[in-house]
Amino acid sequence: MSRFFSEVHKDLTPYVPGEQPRDRRYVKLNTNESPFPPSPAAVRAAEEAARQLQLYPDPTALALRTKLAEHFGLAPDEASVNNGSDETLSFAFLGWCDEKTPALFPDITYGFYTVYAGLYRLPYEEIPLDEDFRIRVADYAGKKGTVFIANPNAQTGIALPLAGIEELLRQDPDRLVVVDEAYVDFGAESAVGLIPRYDNLLIIQTFSKSRSMAGGRLGIALGRKELIQDLMTLQFSFNPYNLNRMTMAAGIGALEDPAYFEENCRKIAENREWLKDALRAEGFAVTDSLANFLLARTDRIGGESLYRALKERGVLVRHLGAERIRDWVRITVGSREELEILMEKIRGILKEVRS
Ligand SMILES: *Cc1c(COP(=O)(O)O)cnc(C)c1O
Repeated sequence: MSRFFSEVHKDLTPYVPGEQPRDRRYVKLNTNESPFPPSPAAVRAAEEAARQLQLYPDPTALALRTKLAEHFGLAPDEASVNNGSDETLSFAFLGWCDEKTPALFPDITYGFYTVYAGLYRLPYEEIPLDEDFRIRVADYAGKKGTVFIANPNAQTGIALPLAGIEELLRQDPDRLVVVDEAYVDFGAESAVGLIPRYDNLLIIQTFSKSRSMAGGRLGIALGRKELIQDLMTLQFSFNPYNLNRMTMAAGIGALEDPAYFEENCRKIAENREWLKDALRAEGFAVTDSLANFLLARTDRIGGESLYRALKERGVLVRHLGAERIRDWVRITVGSREELEILMEKIRGILKEVRS
């Protein structure tokens, strides 16, 4: 820390992204990226857009928002776009929480929620998942604040059925519920269809995972136009040109190639079920994930040791520090070939710890 850094920030705990090592080639199953490249239509559109880099992009991103609105059956003023859904989340914390409106979210979820609460000095309450890592909707009844639910939940991949989201919305019509659907395309139900019925619902999605565009940074928000206006007020107060031309064009390209997207989501879901079976056959407990990752543990080796042993063998998974999931590792669902390598290394490691 320099001696110039404001007192205000000296206790910040920044987010710790998953490793992006350059020392050797790993089978990389640690940051929930897609094993597939983006749609060729997205790549072509980005290349074309690069020819106009001398010009600022459209700060209202109208073309992309219109395309999104069409895709989700909404109006263009019911969608906004951000530089990754992390930016959308940042604005959600900044805009819809304050001293009297704490952020409410599960104790095991996306690590950025506590980071944003810290950055903006917001009160928050972590509401424990049950012992099977499920959200107990009843625990949110009577609690004032803004609810943040990742659905499927980060780290566990477990989805809350739509009825649960609806119950959260109904518990208090004056309480906003932000549903972070980063992983929804891999098999869970989206709450987008509830937008016409609930003005206290804001949905966040990302092109990073299911549309293979993590490097492009495209997050989206969907909800009633007043909520979208709030987000755009913050965007225009911070960085109006938040999305670059290539990413905007790639986003439109990706939406114009639904077959590629659907096929990739289908493959990931199929590989995920294959991996669940393979791990359970080796005695692992595995969460009932509907995302592009799963959480797994075994009595035969601790989470951190397994992470290290796999890393030595060229396979990266994620070991998360949180107390309740210390014995677990989070594994991104990659291609079948990658998962076969993973299982081969796991079998080797288990054989060694047995002898
Ligand atoms: C990956 C992820 C994000 C962030 O996605 P970006 O659009 O890449 O910023 C947000 N929420 C959850 C739950 C995620 O897993």
